[in-house]
Amino acid sequence: MSDLTRLTAAEIAGLVAAGETSATEVTQAHLDRIAAVDDRVHAFLHVDTEGALDAARAVDARRAAGEPLGPLAGVPVAVKDVLATKGVPTTVGSKILEGWRPPYDATIVQRLRAAGTVMLGKTNMDEFAMGSSTEYSAYGPTRNPWDLERIPGGSGGGSAAALAAYEAPLAIGSDTGGSIRQPGAVTGTVGAKPTYGGTSRYGLVAFSSSLDTPGPCARTVLDAALLHEVMGGHDPRDSTSIPAPVPDVVAAARLGATGDLTGVRLGIVTEFSGEGAEPGVLAAFRESVDALTKMGAEIVEISCPHFSYALPAYYLIAPSEASSNLARFDGVRFGLRVGDDGERSLEEVMSLTREAGFGPEVKRRIMLGTYALSSGYYDAYYGQAQKVRTLITRDFTSAFEQVDALISPTTPFTAFPLGSRTADPYQMYLADLFTIPTNLYGGPGISVPCGLSDGLPVGLQVMAPTLADDRMYRVAAALESALGTFTPPAL
Ligand code: GLN
Repeated sequence: MSDLTRLTAAEIAGLVAAGETSATEVTQAHLDRIAAVDDRVHAFLHVDTEGALDAARAVDARRAAGEPLGPLAGVPVAVKDVLATKGVPTTVGSKILEGWRPPYDATIVQRLRAAGTVMLGKTNMDEFAMGSSTEYSAYGPTRNPWDLERIPGGSGGGSAAALAAYEAPLAIGSDTGGSIRQPGAVTGTVGAKPTYGGTSRYGLVAFSSSLDTPGPCARTVLDAALLHEVMGGHDPRDSTSIPAPVPDVVAAARLGATGDLTGVRLGIVTEFSGEGAEPGVLAAFRESVDALTKMGAEIVEISCPHFSYALPAYYLIAPSEASSNLARFDGVRFGLRVGDDGERSLEEVMSLTREAGFGPEVKRRIMLGTYALSSGYYDAYYGQAQKVRTLITRDFTSAFEQVDALISPTTPFTAFPLGSRTADPYQMYLADLFTIPTNLYGGPGISVPCGLSDGLPVGLQVMAPTLADDRMYRVAAALESALGTFTPPAL
């Protein structure tokens, strides 16, 4: 077998099932690739070599015994370090959880194991998933395989870079404001944020619980759909999990791949298709719209007037929830503890631990959130932001009375140079200008590669109504069938 790391997940699963390669060979090829390139890319915070090889051997044994294999059996997957993995370090990109080995698996990790996928390790991320570049990881940034001096997006830059660098064919991300879709866009990979509640949050380290949505990352739309199907579905251990079957995303991806969009109505979000995005991004987007039209889609312009308020509303709601969620990191229950010398009070130890354990962006969010929730300001900030959230939901509802799905560029700009947006937090926040409305509404969104601008990948975002995740896969797969996939320069 030439290079197993260049195959799609669907191809790997087919070869393993047919006995043309083994899960062990596939896993070893990816571990070798990680060893060859990850000192330059730094997609991984932890590589679980032994765990991966054990899991691969178990799949091979099951196959040898004639037991049925799942659709992704033997396929390696990289998991964002935001999901709890039993006995395997889980840091959320933060010093405050350094050394923590969870005593349990997140539901999604359990499902991945049950499906016979092989977890390679944990991927780098902005601390607590707060950021758009992985530069806020306490363990150093990940680099974009398209250009090692540029960011791979964030917060799930490690997962996206692992795919683009052929270190893994599949990865898991989590999307609170764009952390799956934006890294997908800037690395030329596919990232899908499922309907909120369509994928379990049990064992996901919480950032903003009303927004956090785990989802699939891959190099092709079909692979993302296959992973979505395995990881998604109702989980009684997550109180906001939706008791409904996973939409048939795999069938939709296959249908889309036929390249026929006859009868599909798509709305271009007026507010996101004019100024606000780089010219090269808009040019790639416009060309993709032409491709969608050629495949039979009907395209209309739809105004979503409140989308412009999504970013400020998000930066009140998400930090508010974070300030509450992160209170549990007190130096007593998990990870780091600082100053516990028997002399200091509990409060002093907590405060020293949080001072040492949290990075500057996390502290900024905690302060923003605490302020927005404080009694004198609650109505003016948090309450107001919740009203904006309702108005954005209404924009989506009325748009979906007219069209099947909405489209826009995924991000306003392509991968920027490392260090170029860290001085001004607002410049970093702008990376999610186009992805945040979907999170506030709770619907699904996907980013699919749609071209290059100055040699860097551009993503197109498809947004669909809640629980209509299949629609976005159909459109994304159609676009992929027209444009092909995009391969970075060799590392
Ligand atoms: N970049 C956004 C933020 O910093 C989104 C993060 C995410 O989706 N986890 O909050």
